Amino acid sequence: MRASRYFLPILKENPREAEIVSHRLMLRAGMIRQQGQGSFSWLPLGKRVLDKVCAIIREEQNRAGALEILMPTIQSAELWRESGRYDDYGKEMLRIQDRGERDMLYGPTNEEMVTDIFRSYVKSYKDLPLNLYHIQWKYRDEVRPRFGVMRSREFLMKDAYSFDLDYEGARAAYNRMFVSYLRTFTRMGLKAIPMRAETGPIGGDLSHEFIILADTGESQVFCHKDFLSLDVPGEDVDFTDDAEIGGIVRNWTTPYAATDDMHDDKAWDAIAEGERLSARGIEVGHIFHFGEKYSKPMGASVTGPDGKEHFVSMGSYGIGPSRLIAAIIEASHDEAGIIWPESVAPFDIGLINMKPGDAECDRICAELEQAYEKSGVSVLYDDTDQRAGAKFATMDLIGIPWQVIVGPRGAAAGEVEVKRRATGERHNKPIAEVLAATG
Ligand code: ATP
Ligand code: MG
Ligand code: MG
Ligand code: MG
Repeated sequence: MRASRYFLPILKENPREAEIVSHRLMLRAGMIRQQGQGSFSWLPLGKRVLDKVCAIIREEQNRAGALEILMPTIQSAELWRESGRYDDYGKEMLRIQDRGERDMLYGPTNEEMVTDIFRSYVKSYKDLPLNLYHIQWKYRDEVRPRFGVMRSREFLMKDAYSFDLDYEGARAAYNRMFVSYLRTFTRMGLKAIPMRAETGPIGGDLSHEFIILADTGESQVFCHKDFLSLDVPGEDVDFTDDAEIGGIVRNWTTPYAATDDMHDDKAWDAIAEGERLSARGIEVGHIFHFGEKYSKPMGASVTGPDGKEHFVSMGSYGIGPSRLIAAIIEASHDEAGIIWPESVAPFDIGLINMKPGDAECDRICAELEQAYEKSGVSVLYDDTDQRAGAKFATMDLIGIPWQVIVGPRGAAAGEVEVKRRATGERHNKPIAEVLAATG
C-alpha cells in the first residue's frame, strides 16, 4: 500500500475530548472517527487492526470447536418476552418499532435468538455438544459512553453460546472457552487474568471476567502475583481432552483473583502482603455458565440417552474486539505513539523513502515493496514528499513494528536502515539480505 494513495488522516494536535492515551492515539493515528455519542467509524488503518484481532479470535474459537454463524442486529421483542428479559433489561436496551408498530430492539446480546435457533433444529443429545458464535455489532445505551471504543454504545462483540445435555457437559464447554480465551489474549501480546465475577443481567452461577491490568481500567481488581508467571497453553493443546483442559482451568483458577463485586476480604488477608496485586483492570472478556436460565422458559430441550426430555444446559462467552484494541494500546505505547504487537499490527513493515524522485531510492523502494508483497508481508510504503522528520513521526505514531528506511547515502552503499519500533534500535542491512529474507 502506498501512503500517497492511502487514507490516513493523522492529527497533529491532541484531541481535547480524549481523556486516555488509547483514545488519543486512535484518533491521532487516523484509526477511528467519532460519529456521535459512543459511536465510531473505523477508518482504513483501524479496520485493518480490527480485522486482525477478529481473525485471531476466530482461529481460537474454531480451534476450541465453536462454529461461526451470523445473527441479525435487530431482534424481535417477542423472543425477549419469552425469556422475561424484555422488561428486566432496562434502559441500556435500545427499543425500536417497525412500520407495523411491532416492538423491536437492537441486540445488546443474543442468548434469546441463539436459543431460538437451537430449539428449532436440535432434538437429540446425539447432536451435542454444540457451540455457536458470531462476531456482530451490539448496541447498549450506556449512561456514560467514554474513552472512545473502550466504552461505546455501538461496539463489536464476539459472543459464543454453548449447549449441552447436563451440567458436566456444560462445565466442559465452559472450560474449553476459558482456555481458548487464555490463548486468544496471549496471542495479542496481552496478559489477561481470569477473575471470579458477578453474572449481572446475563444470569447464572459461574462466571469469570478476563481482565487486563491497566491504570485506566474501570474496575478495581484483586489477585495473587502468581498469575503473572502462569503458563498459557500452546497451539498443540487438545480441546477434545476434557481432563487436560480441566487441568489448565484448575491451574488458572487456584490462585486468588476477584473483581470488586466478588472480593472476599478473608481470602485476601490470608495472602502474604508481598504476593498481593491490587490494581485497576479492563474487562476484555466475560464467560458465563447459566444452565437452564433460557432453555427452560424458551423450551429448548433434547431427548437424552434415557429417552426423556432434558432442558439443555447453556453458557455464553463474550469478547469485545473494539475494546480489546484500546486495551492493547493502553498496554503497549510510548511517548511517540502506538507500539503494535506483530500479531495485530495493521502492516508488518513501514517502508520510508527519504528522497522520492531520486531514481535509486525510488527503484529500491519499489523493488522492496514488490518483494514484501509477493512473500505475504504487508507493507505501508511512504512515497510522499513530506519531510523526513514528519515521515518518521507518522511511522512511530501508527506503531508499525518494523521500519525500513531508504535514503540516497545508504542506497549508494547498497544498504537500508532497519528500525524496530518497540525498542528504537536501528541497524544497517545490505539490500540483498533484506530481499533474500523475503524469498
Ligand atoms: P462492562 O462491565 O464494561 O459494562 P459488561 O460486563 O456489561 O461490560 P458483557 O455483557 O460481559 O459486558 O459483554 C462481553 C464483552 O463485551 C465485555 O467483556 C467487553 O469486552 C465488551 N463490552 C461490553 N460493553 C462494551 C462497551 N460499551 N463498549 C465496548 N465493549 C464492550
Ligand atoms: Mg456493561
Ligand atoms: Mg462488566
Ligand atoms: Mg461482563
